Amino acid sequence: MPPAPEVSVVGSGPNGLAAAVTLARAGLTVEVHEAADTPGGGLRTTSLFDSHALHDVCSAVHPMAAASRFFREFDLTARGVRLRTPETSYAHPLDNAPTALAHRDLDRTCDRLGPDAARWRSLLSPLVRHSQDLCDLFLSDQRHLPATPRAALPLPSRILTHGTGLGRHAFHGPAAPALLTGVAAHTGGRLPSLTGAAVALLLGHLAHTTGWPLVEGGSARITDALLADLQAHNGTLHTGSRVTDLRQLARSRAVLLDLAPAGVLGIAGPLLPAGYRRALERFRYGTAAAKVDFLVSDPIPWTDPDTHGAGTVHLGGGDHEIRSTETATARGHRVARPFTLLSEPMSTDPTRGRPDRRPVWAYCHVPHGDTSDPVDRVRRQIERFAPGFSDTVIAARGVPAAALAAYNPNYVGGDIAAGAMTPWQAIARPAPRWDPYRTPLSGVYLCSSATPPGPGVHGMCGYHAASRVLRHEFGIVEPPALGPS
Ligand SMILES: Cc1cc2nc3c(=O)[nH]c(=O)nc-3n(C[C@H](O)[C@H](O)[C@H](O)COP(=O)(O)OP(=O)(O)OC[C@H]3O[C@@H](n4cnc5c(N)ncnc54)[C@H](O)[C@@H]3O)c2cc1C
Repeated sequence: MPPAPEVSVVGSGPNGLAAAVTLARAGLTVEVHEAADTPGGGLRTTSLFDSHALHDVCSAVHPMAAASRFFREFDLTARGVRLRTPETSYAHPLDNAPTALAHRDLDRTCDRLGPDAARWRSLLSPLVRHSQDLCDLFLSDQRHLPATPRAALPLPSRILTHGTGLGRHAFHGPAAPALLTGVAAHTGGRLPSLTGAAVALLLGHLAHTTGWPLVEGGSARITDALLADLQAHNGTLHTGSRVTDLRQLARSRAVLLDLAPAGVLGIAGPLLPAGYRRALERFRYGTAAAKVDFLVSDPIPWTDPDTHGAGTVHLGGGDHEIRSTETATARGHRVARPFTLLSEPMSTDPTRGRPDRRPVWAYCHVPHGDTSDPVDRVRRQIERFAPGFSDTVIAARGVPAAALAAYNPNYVGGDIAAGAMTPWQAIARPAPRWDPYRTPLSGVYLCSSATPPGPGVHGMCGYHAASRVLRHEFGIVEPPALGPS
């Protein structure tokens, strides 16, 4: 029998790999088990319809991978991963008005916001000034006071204003509230909400600092870089290796689970103390996503040509409409015009396809567990702001929310956040404990986005969990250097 690794990681999503890399860099032997045939979890890229067109299967846009502490230290650029950052971070087409645009340049953004220019500047410029400190705070374990309290001072009033009905009266024109609500809607769930406002401030200010990049060649290049580092430090990956019982890994001194609570219950339920098991059973999953990929023959014919060039486009109409469709969706209603996130990768990364074979990435919000094919609703949302789009479609594939869980069991009922981002669950994920990563089972830790700081490709759930494992299981207090060696 081969010697057991000191650490086993279940799941090779960005958090599983961030944890594995951190532990391997500390000199431990690490094995990663991945159920799927390809690694990466939410970080995979494939050619769905045409060998020349590369589609990101899940995540496509990476503001947090550009800004998080884990990836800053890991240094994707030095490893040859090229983050392509569009000058327009995101665009928000409106029905009877010019598209609202969030440029990386805050001044340029304000120039187009007319009566709301000063308000937008005063909302975001204090955050832009302290961007790195704020990013570290948002992506922290939510268990410590901010390292630089001054940076956090602007947050509470802004979260309260824009996370409640008060924010409705903050702006005069349609563009600024649409921009803000479109980013808040990334959270999935009713709007306004405190977590929506927090996410809007995090992602909204990053749009004006490090930007919202795409990865040249596709998101899987991040997975490749993480795996290369893991393997260079004696780590091993087993694909097609679904762990069905935690006891399979009993010979490892520590086990990290890159799993949603449902997955933890599936492999370890009977082993867990009753109180913790009940807490995981009570964990709430939220609004779901349904994915749509198109292969098209031409750039999207946006009515407002200024929409071209944005890395991300928010489709859903004005701020009032998005609040109402997001709230209805969270309540379980399937709406005709769902909030849709779209990226046309070739406008930022021309290597993704050919001029007449172009991938389009999109997903829309739908009720939890929804089984309907989203293609037509997403196509109509695009057509609403880009008449003629349908004529350019060569092929389309829709993945209903309910089917996302078959692709990745962490997306329970299609909830790509691995658990609703309510104010309570943003902090008490997945159970109300001082150390959310440590389970009551000796040596067993959680490291998925069902722990703080929550969803997105930032690696910080994995990094925080790995730091705990190093300290508690191996007596290593200083986390290792993560840069290229
Ligand atoms: C359609 C879509 C679009 C998204 N867009 C973005 C975006 O643009 N930007 C962004 O930052 N984030 C985005 N996200 C969210 C992001 O992908 C996730 O938040 C992130 O991948 C979570 O990482 P993770 O490591 O916690 O888990 P995951 O990435 O979900 O990885 C978990 C892994 O565990 C494996 N696994 C599960 N059970 C087992 C088992 N029993 N044994 C072995 N392996 C197992 C799974 O196969 C999977 O590979 C998107 C997600 C989706 C689905």
